[in-house]
Amino acid sequence: MMSGSELYDIAIIGSGPGGYHSAIRAAQFGAKVALIEEDKLGGTCLNWGCIPAKALYASAEFIQKLKENGEDHGILCDFKLDFSKAVDRKNRVVKELTDGIATLENAWKNDVYMGHGKILKGNANNGFEILIEGDDNKKIKAKRVIIATGSTPVLIPVFNIDHDRILTTDDVLHPNFKFLPENLLIIGAGVAGCEFANIFASFGSKVTILEYLPSPIASEEPMVVKEIQKKFDSLGIEILVSQNVLSIVNTGPSVKATTISADVPREQIETAEKSYFEADYCLVTIGRAKKSRNLGLEDLKIETQRGAIKVDPKTLETSVKGIFAIGDVTGGMMLAHVARHEGDVAVANVLASLDEFQVKEKATDYRVIPATIFTSPNIGAVGMRRKNAKDSGYDLITGRFPYISLGKAKCMGEEDGFILIIADKKTSKILGASCIGSEASELISEISLAMQHGLTVHDVASTIHSHPTISEMVLEGMEDVYGMAIHKKGRPLHFND
Ligand SMILES: Cc1cc2nc3c(=O)[nH]c(=O)nc-3n(C[C@H](O)[C@H](O)[C@H](O)COP(=O)(O)OP(=O)(O)OC[C@H]3O[C@@H](n4cnc5c(N)ncnc54)[C@H](O)[C@@H]3O)c2cc1C
Repeated sequence: MMSGSELYDIAIIGSGPGGYHSAIRAAQFGAKVALIEEDKLGGTCLNWGCIPAKALYASAEFIQKLKENGEDHGILCDFKLDFSKAVDRKNRVVKELTDGIATLENAWKNDVYMGHGKILKGNANNGFEILIEGDDNKKIKAKRVIIATGSTPVLIPVFNIDHDRILTTDDVLHPNFKFLPENLLIIGAGVAGCEFANIFASFGSKVTILEYLPSPIASEEPMVVKEIQKKFDSLGIEILVSQNVLSIVNTGPSVKATTISADVPREQIETAEKSYFEADYCLVTIGRAKKSRNLGLEDLKIETQRGAIKVDPKTLETSVKGIFAIGDVTGGMMLAHVARHEGDVAVANVLASLDEFQVKEKATDYRVIPATIFTSPNIGAVGMRRKNAKDSGYDLITGRFPYISLGKAKCMGEEDGFILIIADKKTSKILGASCIGSEASELISEISLAMQHGLTVHDVASTIHSHPTISEMVLEGMEDVYGMAIHKKGRPLHFND
């Protein structure tokens, strides 16, 4: 082993959901851990992503409910949004959670270093030397390294992102972004674009989205997309699809975007008919770049592919023994819960490779990955969509149940949306589900659990669900697969087949 200062079992570079979870998990097994962070503890998820976005979403949903249902509930009041207060609340939520991470790392006696981590040299036999660039350029040593450096908003030159009027998601979630745009242009109708459109339109901004593909959130079930489009229409959100954005310019008082139809071939762009859009601000949500620069990867010959660190898909070890990578920086599914799962796997494999720990190796398991979209109503999906399942050769049976027929949903005034279950006709195993409506993001967890454990439609349908709850959407959805939903005029098949 290298001589000199203290030797850590694991050094983790990056403290997002991949890194901070890994650090705690490793400490739970008794490892000595160094956690290195160059910006803020909690990474994108807690500071610039999931948490601040969902805190603002909660405020937006509050307003939407008051606007749409307040009178129906007998709540008669004039209300006014103070956007800066909603932002203050969001900032408070972020601070409490990020402070909580510092407390947890401290409680597990993990050493947290603030600075830019870079692997200088080393190998799995002798350990690795890591430079922490910061105020005092400290060097530490570790037997193993986990890289969890995440991603940042992609900056495309023609979009002229200036962080003034042409913004990234980091900019609109910045603690000081406290003015509400009157008109907001959003580039990209993916998950982030739709979530921000929903938030700002609920707050009162006039939102227009420009999307390159022929459909928003194109990977979701078409009937889910149709439902959210209906809702967006009622919020005054305009989604223009098949738009190729050529440029965005900050004109001083506003921004101007120039587009052509996405069908126009590259060589005809110059002469093709252009469309122009103007707004106060433009939010660009077209993807994320992996943060793999200046980590020492080239010197150590750690392989990358278009910025993503290449890993063994089962063990998450990089091309260099003893160095693992997890989360967004590996270019997989960019989701916080995927980063967390990968952290568990990498920690197990790190510790299994060290004689002093009695930890078993672990393999990644990506069979069931739920995903949620926080629009109002929100969307939850897991497993296959109908098209994937058909393309994979399954003979499908489906169940569909609407919120409007559920007692609890009626009580709550949450009647929009439905759940769709898809199952294999031969085995009755659940292949996937899509849900749009109240608590869809929560409902999908029950289906994930069922799928993870290979349960059938009957297994879930014969489980007693508490009444009245929104979780009965899952029960009735499963029953409807065999035309046996109680609160829907069905088409009974043979439920016990
Ligand atoms: C607006 C938005 C909303 C989102 N909403 C959701 C959601 O609802 N659900 C969901 O599952 N996912 C969501 N995501 C995605 C989620 O945030 C990411 O998938 C997740 O944060 C990835 O975790 P990570 O640990 O890989 O990296 P990150 O969270 O990006 O953390 C990486 C950390 O590493 C640090 N770092 C980088 N390089 C170095 C270095 N050399 N030295 C030291 N530190 C370094 C960075 O500063 C950062 O803190 C959202 C993302 C965005 C942008």
